[in-house]
Amino acid sequence: MGKNTRIFTDVDYEKDGKQVGWLYLPYSVTRSAYGNISIPIAVIKNGKGPTVFLMAGNHGDEYEGQVALCKLIRTLEPGEVHGRVIVMPAANLPAALAGARVSPLDDGNLNRAFPGDPDGSPTYAIAHYIDSVLFPMTDFYHDLHSGGSSLDYIPFTSMRKSDSPDLDAKAMAALKAFGAPISLVWEHTLDTGFANAAAIQHRIVTLGGEFGGGGSVSVSGIRIVEQGIRNFLRHAGCLAADASAGGNQTPTKLMEVKNRHYFVLAPEAGLFEPVVELGDNVTEGQLCGQVHFVDNPKREPVPAYFRTAGMVICKRRFGRVERGDCVAHLATDWKG
Ligand code: CA
Repeated sequence: MGKNTRIFTDVDYEKDGKQVGWLYLPYSVTRSAYGNISIPIAVIKNGKGPTVFLMAGNHGDEYEGQVALCKLIRTLEPGEVHGRVIVMPAANLPAALAGARVSPLDDGNLNRAFPGDPDGSPTYAIAHYIDSVLFPMTDFYHDLHSGGSSLDYIPFTSMRKSDSPDLDAKAMAALKAFGAPISLVWEHTLDTGFANAAAIQHRIVTLGGEFGGGGSVSVSGIRIVEQGIRNFLRHAGCLAADASAGGNQTPTKLMEVKNRHYFVLAPEAGLFEPVVELGDNVTEGQLCGQVHFVDNPKREPVPAYFRTAGMVICKRRFGRVERGDCVAHLATDWKG
């Protein structure tokens, strides 16, 4: 295998109890010659058992997970835990502190940087640490997202299809246990370098999810995350089953994103006028919106159409678009 990480830490992953410390990534700059980027990490451990790794702030401008995991760190006590819970509430800390998707230090998108590079820029070094140190100790992983500044989402938990039916069955069981109102299966991969794709390579039972967006903090999204994380920890065997919690919830609605045709892209640069709302059910060929040219109002707007039927689960937040920006995407009922 490759080189070792240059990140060091003051937490001991094998020690029982609650530790809240930092991962130190050497970062030498004018204001601090021997300085470090200090990325928060918590380990809450009690004896032998499964390891659950919960992560937020993969994208810095996606906040529900960051809020929920900070609260979890302060409230979860080792006495409740069987095994180990590792929590990173702000994985790409420079991005989280900047309220930005990517790191201001290197323009790095942590969720496109896996499996990372120990000698790379900060974002790649963080990805490498997660992939080479944390993933090998992890049995269950949840990477908490939202749509970020540019997208709005209807909240859902998700899993990504792997090449292993056995792993997919375990992820599906975890997805249902999390208990979000909507659970989504990603069959389509947008790009490379995702954290959850890397976790799947390690054969970890892996969930993701989008719990809001628009660079805001969703009240309902935080509720779903906080309840769901407890359910996920219980499902993993890290928390004792609690008869008072959860009760008989409404079963989750299973949906899927199957291919590129679920996504609508802006056909031109301009000002995009959407004509559908989140949650609308649309038909193939239906108008999604149109691009206006405010610098030349004589010019006819250019339409963008849905290429398949489905429910609008994601919409672009910003009005201005470049050609190729995703303006909306659909999900359809899960067919299994
Ligand atoms: Ca995201």
